[in-house]
Amino acid sequence: MNSREILKRAAEELRLAGVPDPEYDSAAMLAQAVGRPALALRLETEQGPTEAEEAEFRRMMARRLRREPLQYILGTAAFCGMELLTAPGVLIPRPETELLAEWAAERMAGRREPEILDLCCGTGCLGLSLLKMLPGARVALSDLSGEAVRLARKNRERLGADCEILQGDLFGPLAGRRFDCIVSNPPYIPSAACECLQEEVMREPRMALDGGKDGLDFYRRIAAEAPAHLKAGGAVLLETGFGEAEDTAGIMREGGAARTEIRSDLNGIARMVLAEYA
Ligand code: GLN
Repeated sequence: MNSREILKRAAEELRLAGVPDPEYDSAAMLAQAVGRPALALRLETEQGPTEAEEAEFRRMMARRLRREPLQYILGTAAFCGMELLTAPGVLIPRPETELLAEWAAERMAGRREPEILDLCCGTGCLGLSLLKMLPGARVALSDLSGEAVRLARKNRERLGADCEILQGDLFGPLAGRRFDCIVSNPPYIPSAACECLQEEVMREPRMALDGGKDGLDFYRRIAAEAPAHLKAGGAVLLETGFGEAEDTAGIMREGGAARTEIRSDLNGIARMVLAEYA
């Protein structure tokens, strides 16, 4: 069968399984299996994959039909112009988080050697992208999950980046350390809502999603502990869940922030909170 025909049939199978973006996903998997760009494959009416390539594609399809996230199957995700490794057990980087990285880069742009901390780093997407956008920055990343720390270290090596990556609970491994900017995309989904997420999201680690009863547990801890880890005039930049930005800003002010600001994501949902300290 030619590639075009294979893609047509695969997209139909995925659609029947309820996969949200069947054309994109089938093309991305076939492209990876044969090592040719997706766009070219859609136009291939003569050529097709070899038997081995097709077998590999079928293995990927079987996983996607079970609603495993595409990025776990491909093993990579794009973030701020970088290709990051992804793996089951670690949260997949999301486009909305790119906006938080850009906001942090904007805040730190004028400084010579800003010291930045990425708390709950997962793949390392925030910290590694800031290192790329801010040459000269000194970046530390931390996560409680051993799987996340191992993956973030692989990403660091792959990108040839120079930064510390520590394992521990929030500020646990950072006693006595102070930063100009702390960025974090902590778990923020209310516990009860974790039971009824999109099928793909249910395959991601609960530990990276569950923010406690009201979803705000990590913001309370960050609000309480961040001041001891900030330099004078430092800032905290947080990603927040749906409907959580106002409450999070309030929590940060109660914790001592002098000023807070909220920004929305590309869907117009209030999604990020900046907290500035005196
Ligand atoms: N953005 C993820 C989602 O909505 C949640 C990530 C998180 O809890 N930080 O599925």
